[in-house]
Amino acid sequence: MAYIQFLGAAGVVTGSKHLVNVSGDQTGTTGFQVLIDCGLFQGQKEWRERNWQRLPIPPADIEAVILTHAHLDHSGWIPRLVKSGFKGPIYATPATIDLCSILLPDSGHLQEEDAAYYNKTRTSKHTPALPLYTMEEAQHCLEYFQPVDFGEPMQLRPEFGFRFVRAAHILGSCMVEITTEQDGKPVRLLFTGDIGRVRDSEVAPGRVVHSGPTEGETADVLVMESTYGNRLHPKTDPRPELARLIRETVQRGGTVVVPAFAVERTQKLLFMLRDLMDQNLIPRVPVHADSPMAIQAVKIFLKHSEEFSEDTKKLIDRCGSPLEWPGFFFDTTMQDSKKINDARSPMIIVSSSGMVTGGRIQHHLMQRLPDPKNLVLFIGFQAPGTRGYTIKSGAPSVKIFGEEIPIRAQVAALEQFSDHADTPELLSWLHTFKNAPQATYLVHGEPAASSQLRDAMTKDLGWNVQVAQYLQKVQVGNAVDRTKYQGENSA
Ligand SMILES: [Zn+2]
Repeated sequence: MAYIQFLGAAGVVTGSKHLVNVSGDQTGTTGFQVLIDCGLFQGQKEWRERNWQRLPIPPADIEAVILTHAHLDHSGWIPRLVKSGFKGPIYATPATIDLCSILLPDSGHLQEEDAAYYNKTRTSKHTPALPLYTMEEAQHCLEYFQPVDFGEPMQLRPEFGFRFVRAAHILGSCMVEITTEQDGKPVRLLFTGDIGRVRDSEVAPGRVVHSGPTEGETADVLVMESTYGNRLHPKTDPRPELARLIRETVQRGGTVVVPAFAVERTQKLLFMLRDLMDQNLIPRVPVHADSPMAIQAVKIFLKHSEEFSEDTKKLIDRCGSPLEWPGFFFDTTMQDSKKINDARSPMIIVSSSGMVTGGRIQHHLMQRLPDPKNLVLFIGFQAPGTRGYTIKSGAPSVKIFGEEIPIRAQVAALEQFSDHADTPELLSWLHTFKNAPQATYLVHGEPAASSQLRDAMTKDLGWNVQVAQYLQKVQVGNAVDRTKYQGENSA
C-alpha cells in the first residue's frame, strides 16, 4: 500500500512538506519514504513554531527529498532536516540547486541574526535563543543535492520512479510526477509545487522564464497548490501604468523605491525597466539593484538561459548581460548602499526584502518616505503584519528601526507581477489533463482560497477534490479515504 501525509502547507501557504510512503504499513516505520519539498513555515508565530516541532517520523527514515523549487517555503527546512539526521539525496533541477546555494545560507544567516536579536533584547522565552540552523549548517546541506534535469526519468526503487515536468513558476521550478504501484497496478501521483502563469500574454509580461506549466498531464492522485484559488489577477498590461508612475516621479525630481525579493522579482523588473528605456517610455535615470543577493541571482539567471522566455532571450541578445548595462548598478557593499542614500537626483532603487521585513530597503524607505516627491512602488504580495502591508494600506506612518517614519511619498502597487496562476488560469490548465484524477488534494492555500478552488473545480470539472488537512494521511490508489475528512472540508 501507499499513502501521502501532509506535513505542511495544509491550511496555509508555507511549510510545504508532503511525505510519500510506498510499500509500508500505516505506522510509518516501514516502507520507502520520500519527502516532496521541505519548506519553512513563515508568517504568524503559531505557524513559525511548527519549524521547531519534530516530524512524525525520524528524519533518518526518509530516503530522499524531491524538491519542486528554491523558494524558502518549499526548501528552507532542508538544513533543519539534515541537522536532525536525514542522510539521503535531495533531488532538484540544476537551476534550483544554484538558487538554493544562495537562498539557504542567507536563510541560516537570518536565523542567526534573529537569535542574536532575541538574546540581546531578551524577548524570547528560551535562553539562550538558538537559530533553527546556522549559515554553516545551511552550506553543509548543499552537499546532499543531486541535479536532475527536466524530463529525466529517475527510478529510485523498482516500485518508485519520478520525473520533473515544468511548473513555469520561477527559474528551475518543476512539478514532480511519481510512478508507483498499488496491488500490482501502476499509480501516478502528481505534486504541482507552485504553478506559474499559464501563458505569455500582455497581462503577465516580463516573464523571465518560460510561461505555462506542462500540459496534457495524467494523474491518479493530484496534490495541487491553491494560493490564488479565490483571486483574479488584473487583466491589464501593467507597463503603461509603470512607465507613467516612473515618468511623473522623475519629472517632479523624486526617486522611485521598489521593495522586491532579490531573486526573480528583481530580475523581472530590471529587464522590464531596460525594455521601457529602450523604447523611450521612461527616462534613463540610474537604476540601483541594492541587494548583495541580486547580483548572484543575475549570474544564476544568465547561466540558465535554456529557461528564458522568448522576450528575455531577445532582450539578452540585444543588450547583453544586465551586469554590464550602462546606468544599471549592482550595489554589493554597505558603502555602495550608503552612497545611494546621499544622492538626491532622480533614480530607481530596487532593494529587498520585498515585504520590508528586513534588509537594506529599510534604510532607503527611512530616507525617502517623508518626501512627497518620491514614489514607493509595490510589485509583490504584502502579508498582513509586515511593514510593506502597513505602507501599502495607506497608514500615515510606519515604524522602522524603532523610529516612527511619516509616509508622505506617493505609494502605488501593481498586482500583475505574480508568479502564481490565478483561478481561471488554473482551471484552464486542469482542462488539459488527459484524465480526471481519482482524488485531488488542495494544499498551499489559505482556507478560504482552497475551499473556493475546491468548489470551482468540482463545478467546472466534476472532479473529486478535497482540501488537505495538516498531518492527514490519505491512501493512494483504490482506497481513497473520502469519508473521514469530508465534514472538516465542507467548512
Ligand atoms: Zn514558490
